[in-house]
Parts: sequence; C-alpha cells; structure tokens
Amino acid sequence: MKKPVVALVGRPNVGKSTIFNRLVGKKVSIIEDTPGVTRDRIYGTATFYDYTYHVIDTGGVDLSEDTFNNEIKVQVELAIDEADKILFVVDGSEGLTSNDYVVRDMLIKTDKPVIVVINKMDNKHFKEHMYDFYELGFDTYFNVSGEQNDGIYDLQTEIIKDFQTIIADEYEEGIV
Ligand code: GDP
Ligand code: MG
Repeated sequence: MKKPVVALVGRPNVGKSTIFNRLVGKKVSIIEDTPGVTRDRIYGTATFYDYTYHVIDTGGVDLSEDTFNNEIKVQVELAIDEADKILFVVDGSEGLTSNDYVVRDMLIKTDKPVIVVINKMDNKHFKEHMYDFYELGFDTYFNVSGEQNDGIYDLQTEIIKDFQTIIADEYEEGIV
C-alpha cells in the first residue's frame, strides 16, 4: 500500500518546518527566522502508533512580497496534487493576514481534507486571535505550538484519523 501523504502549506515563517520536524520526529527541515528558507520541498516519514505517512514540507526559493503569489501558487498546487491531506499552517501570534487569504482561496477549491493548524499558540495573549481564523471557512482547526510541542499529539490523532494502519498494510501485502 502506498503511504498516505500529508503536505504543509502556508505563508513563510508561520512554522511549517518546525511542525514538520515535530511530525517526523527529527530535525530534517531547516527552521529559520528568515522567511522562505525551506528550499523546494522536503520529504519525511512520520510514524504515530500503528500509522505511518509521508510528510512534505514546502517552501520557496524566493518568497519576497513581489513573487509571493506565484511561489505560493506552486506550493499549494503541489500539495493539492500530491497530498491526501493538507495542513494549512497559520501564525496565531500574528493573526490573519492577506497572504493567508491567498492560500485559503486556493485551498478552498480542493476536495481534499484541509486541517487549519494555528501555530505559535504558546502565549495566552495569542489566544485572542484564535476565533479570527474560523473566518477562513474550513471545518477543522487545531491550536498548536510547534516550538513547545503543544497540541501536536492531538494534531497527529486528527491526521491519521482515516488512514490505514501499518498492520493493515502488512496484512494486505501478506506479511502478517
Ligand atoms: P516556515 O517558514 O513556515 O517553515 O517557519 P519555520 O518553522 O522556519 O519557523 C519560523 C520562525 O517561527 C522561527 O523563528 C521559529 O523558531 C518560529 N516558530 C515556529 N514555531 C513556533 C511556535 O510554536 N511558537 C513560537 N513562538 N515561534 C515559533
Ligand atoms: Mg520552512
């Protein structure tokens, strides 16, 4: 069985690479204060209990304000094409921005499940922004702090919800 694929999308600096590393359990992706540092895309494999799936971290070579719309389009189209589930990461410390809406307008068209991951919720003060994100119009929202590893367990539980277990895969392949 092909492992399910989960892709992280969102504007630069929201914490995609930080969350990628939490899911994969290793520091594979580069976390940077400078936006747009994850080059192209990085693949990893996440394991959670009896489940396993691929994770794609996307970035852009150049995500300056002038090229944002083009770069993000490539990133989101790739996620829509390749992923079974999409994690749309937003920054809870900043609240909604117009660039979040650019991503949203592309994602709202896909039939694939989208989980909105509100990251950087490590400060009580940030919780004020929480409800603003519901305006994005998706069904599923998770508050996390990638940096503190808060909410990641619940997020993983949601990610694997309709996936098949490794055990089920092996059974199908005749291994067990
Ligand atoms: P990306 O550009 O979306 O891949 O974002 P990164 O993972 O590279 O993170 C961008 C910046 O946000 C870095 O300085 C991280 O240390 C910081 N960051 C990531 N997750 C959190 C978080 O949960 N809380 C806070 N306060 N900062 C975070
Ligand atoms: Mg990154």
